[in-house]
Amino acid sequence: MKILLLGEQPLGFSSQDCHQHSDIESLLDELQINHCIVVNLAEPQQSVVLKQLRAHELAYLVPIFYAVEANAESQVLADGNFDEQAQLSCSTYLERLARLHPTLQSQTNRLISFLWLLPQRRISPFYDATKWYYRYPLLECWQEQSHSAWLNSLEKEAVLSKAELIDRVRQCKSCKSSTLNYVETCPSCNSIDVSLYSALHCFTCGHVASQAEFQQNSALVCPNCQTQLRHIGVDYDRPIENHRCNSCSQLFIDGEVRANCHSCGTSNRLEELSEELWHAYRLAERGELWAQSGKQTSLMPEGLGEPVSSEHFRWLLGWQNQLAQRHQQEHLLLALHFSNLQQLYSELPSSTVFAQLDEFFERFQNLIRQTDIVCRWNQDLLMFLLPNFAPEHSKVLEAKLLSLAEEQTDNPLELSVRFRQIPNSELAEQAEQWLLNLVAELRQ
Ligand SMILES: [Zn+2]
Ligand SMILES: [Zn+2]
Ligand SMILES: [Zn+2]
Repeated sequence: MKILLLGEQPLGFSSQDCHQHSDIESLLDELQINHCIVVNLAEPQQSVVLKQLRAHELAYLVPIFYAVEANAESQVLADGNFDEQAQLSCSTYLERLARLHPTLQSQTNRLISFLWLLPQRRISPFYDATKWYYRYPLLECWQEQSHSAWLNSLEKEAVLSKAELIDRVRQCKSCKSSTLNYVETCPSCNSIDVSLYSALHCFTCGHVASQAEFQQNSALVCPNCQTQLRHIGVDYDRPIENHRCNSCSQLFIDGEVRANCHSCGTSNRLEELSEELWHAYRLAERGELWAQSGKQTSLMPEGLGEPVSSEHFRWLLGWQNQLAQRHQQEHLLLALHFSNLQQLYSELPSSTVFAQLDEFFERFQNLIRQTDIVCRWNQDLLMFLLPNFAPEHSKVLEAKLLSLAEEQTDNPLELSVRFRQIPNSELAEQAEQWLLNLVAELRQ
């Protein structure tokens, strides 16, 4: 694999090993998709250059290593140090490049092809100390706007999965800023003006005051009863309240720790702070299939309309069940399970599996109406809610579905189908168990 070097030639490198470049433009002119890049620059310039490279339409894909050291942001952007492991990464890259589907246009495809080409790649957050905040430098290179929402939706779709929890960040309850100052405050008036207080307690009269008030020349004398205090534990002791509020004079043992917001000034109790989780993401199963096929796996074909989430589908089902009970309506729940889909993915090229699914759904689409609601329950199971569907029609639909499955004689997809009439009293009482039973029955 050809190595393009940007910057000084590191120790142990010979000029036969690599093509050295002094500027990024000439390097990008020479760069091809089957090259790798080694960067040897001083920080923070190195991280700036890495961002330019990852934003480039070709360089974002190729293995990029740093030669000597890298700051935290560069580590998130690059593929690691140029060591023995790097040679292995390069051969993995070339082997996977040959299997990557050639459509790399969309933003999502960019993310997917990047992650697919090296299995150890992650989309990791980086803590920007100048902004007091985490961000995803790679997504910034690809000009993706609402990072967290986008990553969440890809995770819901099983394109990405969480690889690691990087940090839990506490946020102000009113402005969500995480620039918080944790400070001990007075438990009675919440003033931050508290200080350590060295006090004495006279046993004779019970007077409590600061040590300074007892000090007379080199002796300790109670300012209230004039008793000379000689022995601690006999004449006097120190109260356990060793803090004093300078605003309200309250003495106390432990102050209340509050998180005061530097952005909006709100004083938060610790239990009021919200928490934001920052994860590193890796490619998940559907993302892997997508990288090789160039499109989303077809278990959810576009022709069937926008799917609803399984949470939303549960809610919808419960609601429609109630309405149906009240207004004597009749709906139908249809569940489709592709029982050997996972097996087919492992045995056949993914493009063949997608073609089979496409073929099935092309015909299936004719049986479904625009107003029917579809939900991808999981990897191999779909649920449909067919509103206002009379029970006598479900027999017809069932017959059509079965004949559809039979027509596909050369299609290895195995399909099981279940129908449920709605309203259903069991659904009204124990929705989750009712759904679990349905899924279990399909999977038998
Ligand atoms: Zn106070
Ligand atoms: Zn006294
Ligand atoms: Zn705030």
